[in-house]
Amino acid sequence: MTFSVERVRADFPVLSREVNGQPLVYLDSAASAQKPEQVIAAEAEFYRHGYAAVHRGIHTLSAEATTRMEQVRQQAANFIHARSAEELVFVRGTTEGINLVANSWGNRNVKAGDNIVISQMEHHANIVPWQMLCTRTGAELRVIPLNEDGTLKLDVLPSLLNDRTRLLAITQVSNVLGTENPVQAMAALAHQHGAKVLVDGAQAVMHHAVDVQALDCDFYVFSGHKLYGPTGIGMLYAKEDILQAMPPWEGGGSMIATVSLTEGTTWAKAPWRFEAGTPNTGGIIGFGAALDYISALGLDQIDDYEQTLMHYALTALADVPDLTLYGPDDRRGVIAFNLGKHHAYDVGSFLDNYGIAVRTGHHCAMPLMSFYQVPAMCRASLAMYNTHEEVDRLVAGLQRIHRLLG
Ligand SMILES: *Cc1c(COP(=O)(O)O)cnc(C)c1O
Repeated sequence: MTFSVERVRADFPVLSREVNGQPLVYLDSAASAQKPEQVIAAEAEFYRHGYAAVHRGIHTLSAEATTRMEQVRQQAANFIHARSAEELVFVRGTTEGINLVANSWGNRNVKAGDNIVISQMEHHANIVPWQMLCTRTGAELRVIPLNEDGTLKLDVLPSLLNDRTRLLAITQVSNVLGTENPVQAMAALAHQHGAKVLVDGAQAVMHHAVDVQALDCDFYVFSGHKLYGPTGIGMLYAKEDILQAMPPWEGGGSMIATVSLTEGTTWAKAPWRFEAGTPNTGGIIGFGAALDYISALGLDQIDDYEQTLMHYALTALADVPDLTLYGPDDRRGVIAFNLGKHHAYDVGSFLDNYGIAVRTGHHCAMPLMSFYQVPAMCRASLAMYNTHEEVDRLVAGLQRIHRLLG
């Protein structure tokens, strides 16, 4: 079946609303994507007819909910081509997944004198947990620098890695520049030094197929809400032997095997050891529906469509005077820019007046703002439901702001 953007748009109720008297142009999917009716309906249906607490339930509803939760774990494993569903942990999102690794695996495996390598284009979620770990342990944080064009200085990477490198934590796709990093090659290099590799997939999974076995990363994290699923649900993947050796990080119900007040507690096996407390079951069901939705469309079709749209947008934006674009030509999903010397907030509010939603600010990537010596950028995201006409509206809006403000 060929990809039809009109058919996709029809599934997303919010896309047909108006904002400030104009049809909404939603260009903020990299912050959070809109939800198709199929996701909304699956979650509502669960609360209407299938709701119960999961785990240890002898009654039918509880058993059904538990089965569905474990089916979604399997779906997520298939989605990123993991070997087994038991390599996937339900978390709140990318941020929680990274913090889990930093606290559980990190506290046990990182010592004073060790180092962790990240890059200058990381989202704060893939910086701050490692800074905190380094402060706790006395390890050193090393940073792969950037080229002006928004790619990484990969020739520097070998000099940052040594036998004290415990981890390379790297984003697959930058949430500001759209740069796709060669994570497979970077992982191979890090592995030569015995380091583990964490890939932040938050901006990758919605744009193209991901195969964690081919990447050979040790950890992979992503969020449901950027993948057209609900908020508050995401996945951490870890290779089975690594996950099984990791200690718990939060204690409570559902993560234990036995609890004794005199003899202490023994842990459940992974991944359940990392899922203390009542999970976001509604979110898990909606997330499963989102994975079904994407799979039915086909990531290869989505990828083709989005690449065509991106190419069109980059060409069309060349007609806007005084526009500075950040990031390489070959990019995924996002276009960060500034218009003349105007603050991104001013440009963003003008666009909002025209019904166009873009994100403005530091995009949780302050080190990247410092690199380009700007306080903020505007960012237009292109998702699978965006159209060529919407790109034209963005371009016309920017041209109008330029005429008004100079
Ligand atoms: C959004 C994002 C995160 C954080 O995801 P949450 O869903 O907010 O936890 C991390 N890394 C990148 C690259 C992101 O785009």
